[in-house]
Formats: sequence, C-alpha cells, structure tokens
Amino acid sequence: MNYTTSFIASICHADAAGKDVVVEKIAFDSRQVTDTKGVMFISLPCRDACKRDLFVEELIQRGVCAFMVDVSFDTTKYNNNDVSFIITHNTLSSLHELAQYHRNQYKGEVVAIIGSNGKTIVKEWISQLWIGDKALFRSPKSYNSQIGVALSLLMIDREDVSLIEAGISQIGEMSMLEEITRPDIVIITNIGDAHSDNFLSLQQKLNEKLLMARNADLIIYNRDATLIDEEVNKSLKGKRYFTWGSDISCDVRLINTNTKGDITNIHFSYKDNSYNITIPFTDRASIENVMSAVSFYIATGRFDSECGDRCGGLQPVAMRLEMQRGVNGNIILNDSYNSDMLSVNIAINQLNNISGNRKSVLFLSDITQSGYNNKTLYNNIAEMVNGVDTLIGIGDDICRNRDLFKNNNSHFFYTTEQFLAHSGDYNFKDCAILLKGARKFRFERIAHLYEPQVHTTTLEVNLNNLSYNLNYYRTLIGSNVKCMAMVKALSYGSGSVEVAYELEKQHIDYLAVAYTDEGVSLRQGGIKAPIVVLNSEPQSFATMIEYNLEPEIYNTSSLYEFIRQAAVDSLVHYPIHIKIDTGMHRLGFKKEEVTTLLDILRRTNTVKIASLFSHFTSSDYSHHDNYTLQQIQLFEDATEQIMAGIDYSVMRHIANSAAIERFPQAHFDMVRLGIGLYGISPIDGHNLLNVNTLKSTIVNIQHYDTPTSVGYMRRGVLLRPSVIATIPIGYADGLSRSLSCGGWSVDINGHKAPITGNICMDACMIDITDIPDVKEGDSVTIFSNAQEIEEMAKKLNTIPYEILTRISTRVKRVYIKE
Ligand SMILES: *Cc1c(COP(=O)(O)O)cnc(C)c1O
Repeated sequence: MNYTTSFIASICHADAAGKDVVVEKIAFDSRQVTDTKGVMFISLPCRDACKRDLFVEELIQRGVCAFMVDVSFDTTKYNNNDVSFIITHNTLSSLHELAQYHRNQYKGEVVAIIGSNGKTIVKEWISQLWIGDKALFRSPKSYNSQIGVALSLLMIDREDVSLIEAGISQIGEMSMLEEITRPDIVIITNIGDAHSDNFLSLQQKLNEKLLMARNADLIIYNRDATLIDEEVNKSLKGKRYFTWGSDISCDVRLINTNTKGDITNIHFSYKDNSYNITIPFTDRASIENVMSAVSFYIATGRFDSECGDRCGGLQPVAMRLEMQRGVNGNIILNDSYNSDMLSVNIAINQLNNISGNRKSVLFLSDITQSGYNNKTLYNNIAEMVNGVDTLIGIGDDICRNRDLFKNNNSHFFYTTEQFLAHSGDYNFKDCAILLKGARKFRFERIAHLYEPQVHTTTLEVNLNNLSYNLNYYRTLIGSNVKCMAMVKALSYGSGSVEVAYELEKQHIDYLAVAYTDEGVSLRQGGIKAPIVVLNSEPQSFATMIEYNLEPEIYNTSSLYEFIRQAAVDSLVHYPIHIKIDTGMHRLGFKKEEVTTLLDILRRTNTVKIASLFSHFTSSDYSHHDNYTLQQIQLFEDATEQIMAGIDYSVMRHIANSAAIERFPQAHFDMVRLGIGLYGISPIDGHNLLNVNTLKSTIVNIQHYDTPTSVGYMRRGVLLRPSVIATIPIGYADGLSRSLSCGGWSVDINGHKAPITGNICMDACMIDITDIPDVKEGDSVTIFSNAQEIEEMAKKLNTIPYEILTRISTRVKRVYIKE
C-alpha cells in the first residue's frame, strides 16, 4: 500500500491536518511499531482507551509521522510538528473504508476462509502446497477480526491470489467483513459445535458466517457436514458450489482413508479419475483440513500429481509463537516452520517486543515464497532486521547477500549442520533469541541447543489477554485516574518480570509487590516503573532504598525506622505510601493516630507522602456493602485530615478489582488492580479474557483388567477393564491432593478424564477408558478459563486467588504473545 494521508482522508471522508505524508503500512498497537518509516498509527477505540495520548506522544518521539484519530483527540498541540493527522468520527469504520478501497483496486483473486475451526490451518496448508511462479498472499497468523481482516487486505500488494481468514464473534460482523473483502471464492471449513454466547443457535451463527459468500462466485465446502449443506442450499441458492465428502453427489468424492503409523492415505475421486494422497497426520481434523485445501486446488484447476505429492510434506501449523525460558537466562521464540517475508516481519516485531533490555539474536534462513526477486527481497529483509543485535544467517541465498547486513553483528553459514559444528562459539547469555527458518533448514535442531530439558507441565500465560484486561478496567475509570497493577506473589502465579514488562509497555502507572525481594527481582529484570512494597519489613528498608522501591508505612514504629534509614542515606523527600486502617484491621494507621503521624512528618524532610491508601475487606460481597460504604467514609475523613495538615498534594487510593466495578465513587486518584488483570472478576467475568492455562502431557498409558487398583492406598479401584494414563503433575506442583479420586477431571481433546486414585507428589493418574485416540505425548488441560478456576476453588473450599498462587515455581511458565 502506498497512499498519501490527504488521499486516505478523502477516501474515508475524513479531515486531514498537518503535513501530507506517504503511508505504507498501518499499526494499531504501539508495541508493534519497530521501523517507523511509512507507518500510520490508528488509534482504535477499544484498544488504548485512556492511554491514547501517551501512545501518540511516544510514537511521535520515535518518528511516526501519520496518525488516524477520532474527533475527540486534540491535534492542536502538535501543530508545530511535522506530523499528519486524519481525523474521523470512527477510526474503525475509516480503516474499513480504506481497506475496501484498496481491495477494489486489486485485480487478483480473493479467497476468504471461514468456519469455526481450522481456518488458519487450511490457509497455511494452501500456501504450503503452492508453487512459486505466481505469488500468493495470505493474511498473517491470527489476523481474522474486524481489525485483522482490514489490515490483511491493506497488505495485499501484487500477488495473484490472496487468502483472507475471517472470524466473527457476534451478529453483524460478517456483513461488514464481506463488504470490505468481496471474496471471489469462499472456503467453509466447518461449523463446530462449540456453543457461543453471542449467538442464539448454531444455525444463526452459520447463517451469519455464510454472509461472506453472498456475492462470491464459488463456494467450497464439505457436504458431509449436513447443517452446512442445508443452510448453503437454503440461503445461497443458485450459487456455484464445489463440494467434497463421502456422498456420490460430491464433486470430490472421498472413497476411503487408511491410517498406518504416523501417516494417512486418502483415496478420492474427481470426475472419472481417482487419486491417492498421503499426509503425515492421522487425526480427523487434519484430514478434513487437507481435503479443504486440496478441494481448493481442484476447484480452481490447479491440482496436479505434484500438488498431490506435496501433501506428503505438509507441516503442522504452529499457531502462535511461544516464548520460552532457555538455558543461560535466554528467552527463545521458536518458529522453525516457515520463513516468508510477512511472517519474518511479524516475528521480528515480536522479538523486539519481548527483548526488553536483553540483546536480541536472530537465526534466519533463506526466505521462501516471496514473489520478489532476490535483490529486492534481501534489501527488504536487511531493513527489517536493522534493530537486531546479532544475526546468524543460514543458507546459500542469504550468504550471497551477506553484504547487505553490515549494520548487524552478523555471521553466515551455508547449512544448519555447518552452524551446529560451530555452535560452541555462540554461547548466548541473557539474550532474546528468535529462530525463524524455512522447514527444510530444520532449525529445531538449533532450538535444542538453547532450550532447557523439557518439563511437560506448563502454565501458559497469555500476555495479550493480560493487556486486554488492563485496558478493559481502564475503560471503567476516569482518564485522570491512575492504575497500580498488583504483581505480588509472582503476579498471582503468572510470573514476575515478564508480566511487569508487559504492563510497563502498557504505560502502567505503578506496580505493587508484597515483599522487598520481589521488587528487587523486578529491578534486576530491568523494570523501571515505580514499585510499592506492601509488606515492607524494617529489616529490608536499606535494600528497598538501594533498589528505589517505595514502602507502605503502616504504623509509627515503621515510619520512625524508615525515616532513620532514609536519613542514613541523606535522602530528601523519599516517596512513602501511608496505609490507613478503615476496617480490615490488619495493618494501617487508625484515625486517632493521624495527629501523631502529622507531627512526625512535620519534623522531617527525608520522606514525603506519595499516597494515602486503604484496603476493602469485602468490596465483592453485596451483603457487606454498608461496611464498604463506611470504609469509604472513614477513608475520606482520615485522608482529608491528613491532607489539611501537609502543604503538598498526594494521591489517594482504595479500590481493588471488585471495587473498580462496583464502587465508582471510590476510584479517587488511583485504583489497585489485582485478580481482574489475571482474567478473574468477582463481579462479571464476561468482559475479561483468560490469562492462565495449566497443561500437562501424558507420559504413560496402560490397560488393566479388573480387579485391580491405581495409586497409593489403593484408592483408585478399577471396576471395569480400564485404560489409565499418567500425567506428571502432582500436589507439589499445586494440584491439591483433595482433588484425588474423581475430585477433578482434566480435558483431553474436548473429553473429560477424571483423576483416578490419590494424587501423588509429582504425578497423578487419569481414566481415559472412554476417550478415543489418546496417545502418549498428548496434551491435557487442567484448567483453561476463569470458570474452571472458580469451580476448582469451590471444590477446594477456597478462592481463585489461592488456586493461581499455589501453582509451584517448578511448573514452567510459557508466555504467549501474538
Ligand atoms: C492484593 C491487593 C489488591 C488487589 O486485590 P484484587 O482483589 O486482587 O483486585 C489491592 N490492594 C492491596 C493492598 C492488596 O494487597
């Protein structure tokens, strides 16, 4: 894309202000912006709520010259900058208008992929089966939303065919996506049976999805999916269909499938010919996804025996880049599946996002599937990798173009083997390492060098969703109200530096930890935001000052002691936070002690109150609302008395997650967000996204005849011939022993497997007798959403806070960031 801002304004019927500049790409998340050249930042209403001005300010500093904002934004203060603004009533609609315009200029074929599951895989497999004399565009990994589809369309350049994935979550959305996408061909993967909150029925959901096909020339789908077949015939009557399935009436007729070991043979016929393809997968979903991809090739006259052969080399689609802790303090992003230009760009952005203070290292192979000539291609790549500290290039092409990478500390190898032979020379420490290689380079062999031995029980922490939750709470508070994020107890179990770093990127105002040591780890991890230590023990005051941590002061003796320590270091006006007891009766000054407090403070200038605060006992329980209101009143009285006695202004805060939602009058100058950040709301979880998923892996499967028993004390009595699997998670990992003997069930591919017998220290056994196709190595989920965490808490007679914080540190945390 290449439009001037004045042109974009005219397309979107919007106003333009400032300089006219050329826009080549669009960003809506300031974290994605690494190379600022040609970038236009769109401020979308849902994303950056209160922090929009800060994001704009930061991006101007970093050199971004074009912005699309809504009319509430005050552009006048930027009059003197060389910056361009497009001002519209609704930035998302304007983005759609621009995407629609761009799509209408495009002469190639647009293929939309819709359905409940498998869209990304079908899209990726069509592209894996493609051969390159004509270029193929595909939307980036998970760009399938109202924003994602528009951005994908705007990325289409001169390719002959463009694959666009489209997903919806409520009524009305597909119609908008159809208007901007106008697909020539629509592929329907399946309609699943997952019930979804925003639709009355599966049928309603399907009909909404089918709107994507209302103007298409061709619709490709599986006729065995009866509901799809019926609805297509009803609502898209008279259209051209191309179907596959077992029925004789299908265009592509599935004759049989035959699984042997790790591969499946698929036998199908089309017109008078019959074909055999072999795929390296055995599950039903993969077979369906391959058939969707192959049907696309057949329906568009692109299928031949070579294409059939290529099915044997299809690769699993890594759905997202997972960040892992490696050896020597490194963190690793591993994407050894493909290396086309777009995915390289996305991965490098992600590397820049997560690297923080670490040095960044990129392993990059030759680029495949670009449609550009070699020179342009590597010139572009060189520009993308500009900010990377160390580049290891592997492959003939990249070696040939090594001169383009002079800006990096770079090393080149012709093959992965050649690098492995020299790997002893590359002992990276405390780096962020991205492995981005085309399949044939088999970079997973490099990954093994830097990954620690595998622990098979992990807590997956979704940092995108964490930010989403933060921004949701921000929409509930006024734009002048600050937010303190509670990262105590390893961020409620989710991790320390990783979580704090994500929050810092979201311009969090304050962080809070329970103990000094937790604050020290954050500082050592490079966290710069102000940090309050809640349970500040006098023995740690010196360390606290050394690491620039701010204490909670809760009684006169701790105040005296802190002043003494601050005086030793000759400090002036060191920020402290005064806790007031309004009803919790744990720590804090009583109202009667305010005069003493003021007397002490008047006699010193070593410390200065940064904030006055208190804590609710029951803001989430409506039957205690009177008590909560009384706490608010006491807080106002005490703080007004203190504020009257000092000659500077201080912040006041009392609201935790529940109070943010339930007591707007208690937001004061700042709120303290805890459990809600981690996806659990005591009030209404509907608006939050899940952050924590606890997973394990099946390490052993055995068949037993009755009568026999499983586990300690023979508590798992088998009453029928059973299949029992072992998973390496036990009570020492945080899976309470009270969940033994059916007290909890784990999820395997959508089926529930109850825990059998007593949970051991490091493992437990589950009954998989009724679950088909389970293999050793399969993943199991212990919990993956707030409802399950709440349910587990209820079973254990506790609260979700305890479920999250009891997950032991030996469970590896894996961070998800898209
Ligand atoms: C933990 C904590 C919070 C956060 O409470 P949530 O209910 O998790 O939002 C707020 N303030 C203080 C003092 C805390 O210790």
